[in-house]
Amino acid sequence: MYCQTSAELETFLLRAQKVTTEGEVAHYIPALKNVDKNTLAMSIYHGQNQCFTVGNTEHTFTLQSISKVLALALALMDHGQEVVFSKVGMEPTGDPFNSIAKLESTKTARPLNPMINAGALVVTSLIKGAGLQEKIGRLLSFVHEMTSAPERKYDEAVAMSEYHTAHLNRSLAYFLKQHKVIEDDIEELLELYCYQCAIEVTCYDLARIGAIFAREGQDPESGRTILPAHIARICKTFMVTCGMYNASGEFAIKVGIPAKSGVSGAIMASVPEWGGIGIFGPALDEKGNSIAGIHLLEMLSSNYELHIF
Ligand code: GLU
Repeated sequence: MYCQTSAELETFLLRAQKVTTEGEVAHYIPALKNVDKNTLAMSIYHGQNQCFTVGNTEHTFTLQSISKVLALALALMDHGQEVVFSKVGMEPTGDPFNSIAKLESTKTARPLNPMINAGALVVTSLIKGAGLQEKIGRLLSFVHEMTSAPERKYDEAVAMSEYHTAHLNRSLAYFLKQHKVIEDDIEELLELYCYQCAIEVTCYDLARIGAIFAREGQDPESGRTILPAHIARICKTFMVTCGMYNASGEFAIKVGIPAKSGVSGAIMASVPEWGGIGIFGPALDEKGNSIAGIHLLEMLSSNYELHIF
């Protein structure tokens, strides 16, 4: 699709770009360090077929935690709500995304929600498939369907870099296996999870995915149902309550748009009946959200009255 630029959006981008110097790129996954922290790009998918783009939107980057929303949608389509929510809860934690603390204090060791790493590992373990290749293939196909970009693949270097250094995620997964919340082989699950997080996308892809969630699971161009409306609604609700790490409450008050961020500096936002927004700005604030991305969304929300509450 042809994407136009907009003078107003350029102004917002330049204003937001000033804060990138205050953030830091994620360091704990070695391969994520190799990126210019001043990069900032945004695409907006508006209505049925309007696209706006500003900044260097040619960049591809990895989904990281945004993949948690897609894996959740797939697991819900595979098993239904009853099974999925018997293993993972629906409550925000207020803790960092990779915290292990609440697992031990929760009676059933069931992670509190699918957007924290513990919960995401459980959700990924529920994705159906005969083995690693088939499961990652299903995740990729889902991304291809949503982005309408069948050439998307995962970044092998980022996936392996995370796999070899994922000591904390490994601990979470083994803890959950000990308590029978996860049944899979943990090393295979971690590999799958790292590939899932390393799927490469562009800002346009994220904007298009956001637009599909905004339209209750329907492809904005073809009108085809990509996921059932009730699953789109569950995903958007988690994006509001837990999508922006332990800054989700503040973000809901200030911006009021369902959104999910990832430590690559990506944000996927979904404005009901309006469209989707995809942002890439790898300089992160102390909670792990794209520092300039948050600024951009604040500007968009107030200028275009996108707050949903
Ligand atoms: N792959 C990352 C991890 O599990 C994703 C974290 C994120 O983007 O929040 O640590």
